[in-house]
Amino acid sequence: MEEIKKQLYFISETIEKIKPSNDFLSIEIIFKINPHKELLESLDLEIKKLFEAFKLSKKSIVFEKKFQNSRCEKPISTETLSDLSLIKSLGSGVYAYAGIFQRLINGLDKHLKNIALSLDADEFIFPNLVSTSTLIKSGYLKNFPHQSQPIYDPNCNIESLRSLRQEIKEGVRVSEIESFNQYYKASDFSLSPAVCYHCYEFFENSIFEKDKGKLTTAMQSCYRFEGKSTGGLERLREFKMREFIAMGEPEFVQYFQNKFINIASKLCEDFEINCQLKSASDPFFIDDYNAKRIFQTGFELKLELLTQFKKAPSLAISSINYHQDYFGNSFNLRLHNGKAAHSCCIGFGLDRWCSTIFSTHGVDPMKWPDELRKII
Ligand code: 5GP
Ligand code: ZN
Repeated sequence: MEEIKKQLYFISETIEKIKPSNDFLSIEIIFKINPHKELLESLDLEIKKLFEAFKLSKKSIVFEKKFQNSRCEKPISTETLSDLSLIKSLGSGVYAYAGIFQRLINGLDKHLKNIALSLDADEFIFPNLVSTSTLIKSGYLKNFPHQSQPIYDPNCNIESLRSLRQEIKEGVRVSEIESFNQYYKASDFSLSPAVCYHCYEFFENSIFEKDKGKLTTAMQSCYRFEGKSTGGLERLREFKMREFIAMGEPEFVQYFQNKFINIASKLCEDFEINCQLKSASDPFFIDDYNAKRIFQTGFELKLELLTQFKKAPSLAISSINYHQDYFGNSFNLRLHNGKAAHSCCIGFGLDRWCSTIFSTHGVDPMKWPDELRKII
């Protein structure tokens, strides 16, 4: 339901609030202004299509963990974490972390990186910017235009820069400047929504020799516009993600797909996190999302590691994505026999992992399971 809600917000700026009923049989939609007939018709159509896709894409559970001692009612609130001076909001969906929060993010990331290195992964440092042409090549812009975050360059024109300076001197905020487009223009870059696109870009036009697939790892900040769904640490505009990426022959990639499942399972076991690994689908938008969702879920190409809360919707802390030869074709990653390479990645959303750990075990490491305390 959270996913459906999130998608509906993107249909029109005039939607103020979407409230599903407790039994999920109806949805109340509150508008800022009276909606016109065409909008109501288009909403009706989108709701039907989304429900149909969710209904048809039956989800299966790969594993489930339940621990007795956890007190995981719902995600820890940002107010509680702010009161403890562990986070500070720097705008909607953007946070700074301090104290035990930053220690846990760093400790967790180091732990994950060491797991990747123990599997012989090569580590990379990727930029937070990604060229928009890479986002087009990867299919991101086509499939998720509603989440993209293009960036702007200033116009190189002294007069326009002077007048911007003047407006700022007069105390106007940049987002309120009506003539913003006069000062800035779209650049060739966007803020990167994931880690692995950089990896395919890095290996573009490569040939993987026989039995020589590649495992890589990197961590970077990722950016997705979440619109009105932005909130808490669950829906951030900027979040940190560590990814492991396997590329090569189908057998090599499937071996790592299984390995990634085992890694996720062991982490939840060690950290005593209530969770399920379930087949899922990406939030495809606009045209053909039904078919894509059903394909992804049906073939279990996307698996989501969901933390379970007693009184809140479950939350994906990781996902394992088997892309088959999709990126191999998009980025011309070839095998020795000329076929396109396969790829699979696992992403760990570090902010959500930390929030889940605090929600489950509290913020005092002395009360954490031993395996968890060891990583900080
Ligand atoms: P995916 O690429 O499957 O959408 O996301 C991979 C992982 O990134 C998710 O499992 C989650 O941990 C993290 N992630 C995705 N979107 C958000 C978000 O809006 N906020 C936060 N905190 N993490 C996110
Ligand atoms: Zn990825």
